[in-house]
Parts: sequence; C-alpha cells; structure tokens
Amino acid sequence: MPELPEVEVAARALRRWTEGRTVASAEAEPSRIFRGADARGFTALRGKVASISRRGKYLMVAFEDGRGFVGHLGMTGKWVRRPGGHPEPYSKARLRLDSGEVLHYRDPRMFGRIEPAPAGALSRVPAVAALGVDPLVDGLDAARLKAALSDTSMDLKVALMDQSRVAGLGNIYAAEALYRARLHPARKPASLSDAEWKVLSGAIHAALEFALAQEDGDEIAYVEEPGAPNPFLVYGRKGERCPACDTAFASFTQGGRTTWYCPGCQPLRPVKPARKAKKAAAPARKTPTRAKRRTS
Ligand SMILES: [Zn+2]
Repeated sequence: MPELPEVEVAARALRRWTEGRTVASAEAEPSRIFRGADARGFTALRGKVASISRRGKYLMVAFEDGRGFVGHLGMTGKWVRRPGGHPEPYSKARLRLDSGEVLHYRDPRMFGRIEPAPAGALSRVPAVAALGVDPLVDGLDAARLKAALSDTSMDLKVALMDQSRVAGLGNIYAAEALYRARLHPARKPASLSDAEWKVLSGAIHAALEFALAQEDGDEIAYVEEPGAPNPFLVYGRKGERCPACDTAFASFTQGGRTTWYCPGCQPLRPVKPARKAKKAAAPARKTPTRAKRRTS
C-alpha cells in the first residue's frame, strides 16, 4: 500500500514526465475514484503543469491555467507512463501528452481518489488541510514529533499512523521506524523520554530515506503485489530472526492492522523513564523480567 515514499516517487515521476511537455487532453471514465465529484473537472485539464507537490500521501497537481487536482493512491493506485495506443488495464484516468505518451492513473481496487480543485486551492482541499506534519515537507525533529503525538493515549504505532498528527506514515513505515528506534509499537506516547523522541524522529527519517533510495525506476512495485520483493527490515517478517538480537520477529493485531516487531529489541516496558515515577515498584524484579523476555 502506498505511503509517503511511494507517493513521493509518484510525484517525482510525474514531474519528470511532464517537464517541458503540454497536456494535450485528459480523459476519465466516471468511477469511484472521483467520489461523486464531477469527472469533467479532470477531463478539462489542458496545457502545462505548473507544479506537482506532495503532502502526506496526497499528490497536488497544479496547471498553469489555474486548474488542478488532488490525488490519493489508495491501496493499489499508481501513475504509469505508456506510449500512445498502449492499452493499460485498470486505467481510470489519463493525461495525454503532446509527445503522444499517455500518463495513466491505474487502480484495480479503486480505493484511490482524484479530486479536481483549483490550482490555488489544492492545499485547502479538506483532506489535505487536515494533515499533520509531513516529515519531508515540514521537517520532523524530536520536538515536533513529541508535540504531534504526546497528547494522545493511543498506542505509539497507531498514533504514528494518524494522518492528522504525522502525515504519510502507514502500516509499513510506522513499523519500520519503531523497529529502527527499538520502541515497542504498543508503548504510550506519554511514556517516551526526550531521548526516545529523538531516536524515533531519526528512525522515521531513516526508514523513509531507505525506501526512497530503493525506488528510482520509472515504475514502482508495492510490496503486497505478487512477486514483489520485500526490502523491509521487520514488515512482513514474522518468524524470521532479527539480525540484531536473533529473536524471532513477532506480530500482533493493533488498531485493526497487523504489526510486526522484534520482542527482543522492542521491549514493551520502557527501559528508563518509568523508574522514577514508580518508586514503590520493586526495582529488583525488573531486571530479571527484562532478561527473561530477551532470551525467550
Ligand atoms: Zn531484535
């Protein structure tokens, strides 16, 4: 499922493909991807693209004549470039370039979305305006991350996936970042120390940058697609051994989604900060408990 890096790759590809080109015509069948909006707002698109930007998992495409659209790739949406006359299965909307090439928006499951909107108002489309801090667009450091997450009692991973807090992370990159940060997905944000916020913000950037470094080609493959490789450290790796501690990766259901983690590297009990708060708890018992968890 496309998350921030996959949408960023789509934005970069669309910029490359439209640079120096003119959109000669646009076509679309009325379909669920328009969510009731008039597809004619898309088929009226013509001329030069002024800018293509991304916020969270949303693409914003502005044309020089003041038209534009917001796009979301949903679960299986993808922009692909094809020669003219090349049939593209699941093509739901198309931009025909003056070169004869066609940019297809293909989406077999149609959870994606295209919302025509004036170029000057793309960032005010409600779904975009509701987004929280974008790690690449806005920058994300420990202080911003803590400010975005620490007022919720949600589990840390569920909070990371809340688009109104941090924009762009989904099931894959939230799990990857938490594994890199050695934080259990069910930790409560309020329990994190300043040092842990710093490690987590760095881990989010590392997970995103790792993915962006992998995706340089013209056409992206999503990890859920049949035969697609799994480049991730922990996502989808239940039962495999953690290269850091040799514990078998485990999974559980959290917020309705499968979460992967390493029980060895990501203990649920915070290692440092809870001690002071719970002076009465027998500290002698903590060490053996943790040791037992590590070796089991
Ligand atoms: Zn481990």
